[in-house]
Amino acid sequence: MTLNVLILGGTAEGRVLAERLASDGRFVTLLSFAGRTASLQRPQTPHRVGGFGGPEGLRTFLQRERFDALIDATHPFAAQMSANAVRAAHAAHVPLIRLARPAWRPQAGDRWTQVVTMADAAGAIGDAPRRVFLSVGRTEIAAFAAAPQHEYLIRAVDDFDPGLPRARVLAARGPFAFADELRLLRGEAIDVIVSKNSGSDATHAKLEAARSLGIPVIMVEQPALPPARLAHTLDEIVAWLNALHAAPVARREV
Ligand code: NAP
Repeated sequence: MTLNVLILGGTAEGRVLAERLASDGRFVTLLSFAGRTASLQRPQTPHRVGGFGGPEGLRTFLQRERFDALIDATHPFAAQMSANAVRAAHAAHVPLIRLARPAWRPQAGDRWTQVVTMADAAGAIGDAPRRVFLSVGRTEIAAFAAAPQHEYLIRAVDDFDPGLPRARVLAARGPFAFADELRLLRGEAIDVIVSKNSGSDATHAKLEAARSLGIPVIMVEQPALPPARLAHTLDEIVAWLNALHAAPVARREV
């Protein structure tokens, strides 16, 4: 028999997991995207796009589509979705596992200021006008309206109107290479970087470039998430699924 698996995506790891499970006849997967980007790169594996309608909507979806397992492979900053997953999985009696991506840690030579919110990040840039490389999402830009004295270069997947007086958008999708990041930071005479601590390999090179140029980084740390069973690698998730598949009677009780 097959195990019906819903994967909440938004990360490269979610896609890789769906592809990996596609070649295993024991599992049927559906990969779910929020639909945040206009230029969604559709995977080859079965997928859907759009919200479920809160935790209650997700619970209904899990039960109606008879899912046996829920995998939270969302972005570390997608805190609402991760919280919804915990509530819905509990209510629907569907086992849940979350892929926990470790945050980046400062290394020798880094000049980080670690903050909790985007508003804190905007304040930490300081009063004097600076050239800021904003590596944050479109939905988070509003916080920087409180610091209009700075010039912003915003890198985002899609182009958009940032609604800030001195801001440009650089539409680009990672992964980004060290040499390109170095060129960008130098060429744009960037004074400071604001970044979310996504822990992603695809966007880490900017931090190495910042270190080598001595550029300070304001790092917005990952939000706290409600407790859930955690996996740190895709292998751990596959092992968990293997165990669920091997215990068909018990699996809905987990
Ligand atoms: P969020 O605030 O956690 O989620 C808001 C709502 O979006 C959820 O309640 C859910 O709507 C829907 N949603 C989120 N992920 C979903 C998924 N995988 N499948 C279906 N619906 C989903 O997350 P966010 O608004 O997407 O982003 C918050 C932060 O994460 C931002 O910092 C953003 O830059 C970052 N981020 C997100 C993604 C992504 O793919 N979502 C990728 C990269 C970075 P319902 O309540 O209606 O179910």
